[in-house]
Amino acid sequence: MKVIEADNVYPWEGSIKVPQEGEFIKLREDRTLIVPDRPIIPYIEGDGIGCEITPAMILVINTAVEKAYNGSKRIVWVEALAGDKAEEKTGERLPQETLDILKEAVVSIKGPLGTPVGKGVKSINSILRRSFDFYSAVRPVYWMGQPAPIPDPERVDLVVFRENTDDVYAGVEFFPGTEEAKKVREFLLKEMGAKEEGFPEDVGITVKPMSEFKTKRHVRKALRYALENGKKNVAVIGKGNIMKATEGAFINWAFEVAQEPEFRDRVVTDPEAEPGEGQVKLTKVITDQMLMQLVLRPEAYDVIIAENLNGDYVSDLAAALIGGPGFVPSGNIGDGYALFESTHGTAWDIAGKWIANPLSLTLSGAMMLEYIGWKEAAEKVYQAVREALADRIGTPDIANGFKKMGLQAKELGTIEFAKEIAARIQ
Ligand code: ATP
Repeated sequence: MKVIEADNVYPWEGSIKVPQEGEFIKLREDRTLIVPDRPIIPYIEGDGIGCEITPAMILVINTAVEKAYNGSKRIVWVEALAGDKAEEKTGERLPQETLDILKEAVVSIKGPLGTPVGKGVKSINSILRRSFDFYSAVRPVYWMGQPAPIPDPERVDLVVFRENTDDVYAGVEFFPGTEEAKKVREFLLKEMGAKEEGFPEDVGITVKPMSEFKTKRHVRKALRYALENGKKNVAVIGKGNIMKATEGAFINWAFEVAQEPEFRDRVVTDPEAEPGEGQVKLTKVITDQMLMQLVLRPEAYDVIIAENLNGDYVSDLAAALIGGPGFVPSGNIGDGYALFESTHGTAWDIAGKWIANPLSLTLSGAMMLEYIGWKEAAEKVYQAVREALADRIGTPDIANGFKKMGLQAKELGTIEFAKEIAARIQ
């Protein structure tokens, strides 16, 4: 971390160094966290712009924690390798020691990781997702003052809970013209009552499995979040009218969860009723309706519960409403284990220029602070980012956005921008 001054950052030096000054976060039996005052948080820089935005994030998060707790709490950052840097230093894209420390530390953060095309390499993101069973991808989308394409973007303040392990991503597909597709087609026609007209000889088939267990644990997580954070309007989405066995079931399972003892008195499901103090309202919305509503009336929703594919569409649309993925944080969360990450990619086209926008990763860092219960520090990050954007300073993507709106703006590099944010933390 040569570009920033920090004595609580332990870069990788031949192996992962676990410093004496830190302690690991622990999980209770019910999977809630026990967070020490000096938690060890592994960070993976990531590929492309990752090594530029990571120190920027650490600088801002360190300052916020210091200001919030006057030194009584601080993060002990420990570098773990993955992606190109890992391959270069160890010959492996995801070394075992990285998986080990992520497990031991429970909570961690990473920059973007690319997947080399055509080398038969598995995506590290999907290996991590599977290794830690990060079954919910959580994406809060809110506006902080950046250039945005809609009027009054402050109307967008919602959290998308995208199921992360189920659905068409299972990768069970039969390509048109293959023996396999022919076999599956014949089975469907002869034994399952499928009609010829829907299955002409040249069909390709993608299987869409969706499970009750996976859906319900995801829905519980989203409802708990809504209740704990005073959110009122929760929508579960799907094309239940068309895909009754999968997306229809997803919606039905969500309403079954609402009837469980934990939620029964706190989740209002009557479409005519209003939620009272300490309650949330759960409604169902067809996916295409939701996409339209998000553009027309984004203020109507606080939490959106989606299965995997719909969650992908909805979270990208929501991100676009407030200026794009460069401003949106993200957390992959399982039973206690969590990995926070930037939502954009590796941006190789600007890598090495030190002009990448660090906000997605920095706001993911703030989300991580909230997750470990350090809300005062997270709030300081949000406040400082808002102030910096109100002063119309930022990396070229931000400054150019302001200029396109006919406003003056000051262009800064990645680290300079992070320093300006840190300087606004009181
Ligand atoms: P990947 O293959 O890793 O998903 P990609 O290039 O397809 O990468 P992004 O990395 O998200 O997708 O880049 C899309 C565009 O957005 C690029 O022009 C890139 O420079 C820009 N971009 C992405 N992230 C940032 C950022 N943090 N700051 C500035 N520009 C960014």
